[in-house]
Amino acid sequence: MVDIHIYNTKARTKQPFEPIDPSNVRMYVCGPTVYDHVHIGNARPVAVFDVMFRLLRHVYGSDHVTYARNITDIEDKIMERAERDGVSIKSLTERCARQYQTDMLKLGTLEPSLQPKATEHLPEMIKMMKTLIEKGHAYVADGHVMFHVASMENYGQLSRHSRDELIAGARVEVAPYKKDAADFVLWKPSSEDQMGWSSPWGKGRPGWHLECSCMIEKHLGETIDIHAGGQDLIFPHHENEIAQSECSHGATFVNYWMHNGYLTVDGEKMSKSLGNFHTVHDLLKEHEGEALKLSLLVAHYRQPIDFSIKTIQEQKRRLDRWYRLTDGVDADTTIPVAVIEALADDLNTPRAIAALDALASDDTAGALKAGAQFLGLLLKSNDSWFKGDAPDGITASEIEVLIADRIKARANKDFSESDRIRNRLESAGVALEDGASGTTWRKAD
Ligand SMILES: [Zn+2]
Repeated sequence: MVDIHIYNTKARTKQPFEPIDPSNVRMYVCGPTVYDHVHIGNARPVAVFDVMFRLLRHVYGSDHVTYARNITDIEDKIMERAERDGVSIKSLTERCARQYQTDMLKLGTLEPSLQPKATEHLPEMIKMMKTLIEKGHAYVADGHVMFHVASMENYGQLSRHSRDELIAGARVEVAPYKKDAADFVLWKPSSEDQMGWSSPWGKGRPGWHLECSCMIEKHLGETIDIHAGGQDLIFPHHENEIAQSECSHGATFVNYWMHNGYLTVDGEKMSKSLGNFHTVHDLLKEHEGEALKLSLLVAHYRQPIDFSIKTIQEQKRRLDRWYRLTDGVDADTTIPVAVIEALADDLNTPRAIAALDALASDDTAGALKAGAQFLGLLLKSNDSWFKGDAPDGITASEIEVLIADRIKARANKDFSESDRIRNRLESAGVALEDGASGTTWRKAD
């Protein structure tokens, strides 16, 4: 059995990973708010914790890991965007969520076991607020339900902020309905024309923090193994998730907290005004998903990463080398120990990539292929990698989308849909090859 060690943000130290139940290891990652294409910074946690998912499946068995990544489809930004564009909230969020899921698959990450949506969990949210009010941790004021921070003795355990920092960091607006400046919103009122749901406290909508607590409770349980996300979520988002869940359940919420570092682009914070703002969707039009993913894994996940087009090009060249070496070679049936050991050591992807480079010779090409495919790389045929030669009338990225749809259909045991997609690709002159480690395509002979 491989021993996994994880740097736990809560303990500020690396600890051996011991799951609550090895037959059902549970991990949650905060997903996107869906109102636009996501940027490359949003793809970092997806790529990094996909590796964690793969490692856990390797160690505990693929049927013994549940990975949930949510879709936040209630948020004021969504309402503003829908109004600006004159579209319904539902059509905006559904389109953006679908696009996000497709782009993440094209990035070569596995589909999570569950992708719950906030709008599907209103009853759970109302129930949790009722519990918090009954237990004296929340109060109703002026159509709002507020979490009363002073009611929780160890509030701030994750971020370790002082009370002054808590207040400043919460970007607290002075509001007459607050008992205390640090209190945060669980529920806020919606006007007639705003998105809202009926509740015992009137028409309104939930706060973002509450959404995650309730999706975790419903799908993964009161105490989970791993909760992960970007470092910018530690406070207030994750701190407040802890407050809600622990005060309503009276149990530890999360055993291991993992946070990835910041991503800059060309040495600067990404911003539309600097012209260094890259969406994953746009990058995938110009670059291979595998090269993009590898660019996100060359730095250790807790370190900051400076992203650039040059990085993608460098990783494309690395993959070119690996593809050439493994052309026509069968992947070994076991994954190289050095790769697993590096990943088990707090997800040391740079060390795993160095281990793959060390295997990049003719003698060990089978091991290279096995290790790379474990990370979701080298999954294309050499033809499609080097020539990108989609037959006329269909683009390589359309093919990738259809392959991703077919994988989804097969996972859902919808074999008539998966056959339909295969037939459609065949009629476009694309042949599929299903292997142990994924599906590749080539131009049909
Ligand atoms: Zn969250």
